[in-house]
Amino acid sequence: MLSLKDDIKSVKGIGEKTALLLSKASVFCVNDLLHYFPRNYSYVPESCPISDLSDSGNVIVTAKVVTAPRVYSSGGKSILSFDISDKSDIMHVYYFGMPYLKNNYKVGMECIFYGGFSTTRKGKMLSQPSILKPDEYESIKGSLVPLYPLIKGLSAKLITKSVKSCLEALNEVKDFIPEDILEEYNLLGIKDAIYTMHFPESMDDVYKARRRLAFDEFLFFMMKLKHLKEGEVKEKNKYKITQDNLADKFIAALPYKLTNSQRGSFNDIRKDLKSDYLMNRLLQGDVGSGKTIVAFLAAIIMVENGYQVTLMAPTEVLATQHYEDIEKIAEEYKLPFNACLLTGSVTAKNKRLLKEDITNGKYNVIIGTHALIQDDVSFQKLGLCICDEQHRFGVKQRLSLMNKGENVHVLVMSATPIPRTLGLILYGDLDISVINELPAERLPIKNSVVDKSYSSKINAFIQKRLEEGRQAYIICPMVEEGLEDNNLLDVTTCKNEISKELGSYNIEILHGKMKNSDKNRIMQEFKEGKIDILISTTVVEVGVNVPNASVIVIENAERFGLAQLHQLRGRVGRGKYQSYCIFVSGTNSKKSMERLDVIGKSNDGFHIASEDLKSRGPGDFFGYKQSGIPMFKIGDIYTDSEVLKIAKEVCDKRQDYLMRKIRSDSLENPAFSFIDFHFICL
Ligand code: ADP
Ligand code: MG
Repeated sequence: MLSLKDDIKSVKGIGEKTALLLSKASVFCVNDLLHYFPRNYSYVPESCPISDLSDSGNVIVTAKVVTAPRVYSSGGKSILSFDISDKSDIMHVYYFGMPYLKNNYKVGMECIFYGGFSTTRKGKMLSQPSILKPDEYESIKGSLVPLYPLIKGLSAKLITKSVKSCLEALNEVKDFIPEDILEEYNLLGIKDAIYTMHFPESMDDVYKARRRLAFDEFLFFMMKLKHLKEGEVKEKNKYKITQDNLADKFIAALPYKLTNSQRGSFNDIRKDLKSDYLMNRLLQGDVGSGKTIVAFLAAIIMVENGYQVTLMAPTEVLATQHYEDIEKIAEEYKLPFNACLLTGSVTAKNKRLLKEDITNGKYNVIIGTHALIQDDVSFQKLGLCICDEQHRFGVKQRLSLMNKGENVHVLVMSATPIPRTLGLILYGDLDISVINELPAERLPIKNSVVDKSYSSKINAFIQKRLEEGRQAYIICPMVEEGLEDNNLLDVTTCKNEISKELGSYNIEILHGKMKNSDKNRIMQEFKEGKIDILISTTVVEVGVNVPNASVIVIENAERFGLAQLHQLRGRVGRGKYQSYCIFVSGTNSKKSMERLDVIGKSNDGFHIASEDLKSRGPGDFFGYKQSGIPMFKIGDIYTDSEVLKIAKEVCDKRQDYLMRKIRSDSLENPAFSFIDFHFICL
């Protein structure tokens, strides 16, 4: 008899090798596997001729092997491939990381193949098909099957079989939500929900199961927040502010006027800093609305009064940019800033020296990536902690920041467009200031959505902008040439293609796999205008500010979420020049063109988020996380806002009961381990 806490190797059919693969997905025990949920579901289709296939997705074909299977390696990955044909047409079959399947296939064999179909530059392609016996096919045709997140080398069949074996342990799972609440809110019992996620009969079943699991996630999150908030006695503000003229002088000297909402937000902050209690504030504003300057103003007040300030960014590129900006304004406006940059690529020796000078107070503005928080830096007189692009930090990091800054002022900044009501729930522990307008001088970005046939026109357009003295970004979805998906453009191929027409300009590539020092150098050169065209992956998505860049081309735009596209587009339109964003779609499918049209027609982050929500059916929730709030595994604060609200209600009504119940039952109940928040240990 299996028990929830049993090692995954006690499950029949799971040996060392499989256990190792599963551990990559954080599945270690029976309970983890039960909570390893499908990322989507599909109905098993009927077998059809190869010539009839056109839309990507799961298909079944009955065909003969027509070429001998061969194994080769590409980019360090082993690939097994052969061709199959059913008289109507021919198609390539691929398996990744499963060379041992080679001997299963001989030329002339006829099989029923069930796998993922797509059309690529090389023709029709079927990836990772499983082979169905005729009676198997008859029994599953038309039924609903779970699709698990792919782990290389692990078949879906094995996962399903193993989950089945684990079901006997499901009895041990205790439901901590009382019957009356389940009934009142029409929620499934927890055992039912877990079972149904793996073996649903219809998508309706899936929605119900998912609703319950999302409910649990939200409820835990809110109880945790509430607990934190109640446990916290409002901390006294012990940082005396005796002067604050410098910020006003600085504002007066700026080459532009602050917008009204920048002013308003700064006033909120100034009031907080002078109040009796510590600041704990979220500064929310769309991309390009000018959050940084408001944060700098807060820093000026603190530094003017003799305190240290930290500024944390989610990427090294962004931290470096902030550092340079601070240095620049310090010099230009004679501000008493003495800034240092503390990131992962600082050498150990320099880090030690920097830390010394932070401790002895030589530096008063300390800028860095979040490695900074984890590091054991001790400050001389830290008074304010600023955290940029906070949605990029997980809740855990946010909490650890709060803990570190237990008794300092905290300002977090985010561009995530969250409706106010949701913000109040999610950021219940913070006060909120909103910047809801762009600087007056900004010209709205002009957008266009086109297909791949426009590449020459696009190049000519870029050239015109470069001739005017501007710069351009081109965003590609991939770093290396595609193995699994030949339709996606990668940075190197893109550079080669662009160079054919615009070879006289300085073109560079930037991607996440480069060394940090190289990344920083390229970014620096782009900022200084030495690079004309920057071909990059999404590493420039967040925060990067080069106002001279006036055009951004986003290749394979259909592959990005709308929120992400909005962030990427935000790299241009940051200065006084008319800016342009060109979304290039790799497909002409109606659905994806409609989706891109939403962003092509609006520059407003809030509007895009809500349209995006409307365009998403309830079936789109898996693998389509793009709210920019990666803190929930199952729930989505937009599509599940109804569940979020009832979780809030239950949390408010029954908090004491639930807290007691969780404390008593759940410490013993490993079913809770899937909740990321370690709430139970509080
Ligand atoms: P985000 O809110 O996306 O972080 P930034 O703070 O990086 O935006 O600001 C984007 C650009 O707008 C910067 O170049 C900044 O100097 C400029 N900027 C900020 N406030 C104003 C303003 N009131 N008027 C004109 N330009 C501004
Ligand atoms: Mg920013």
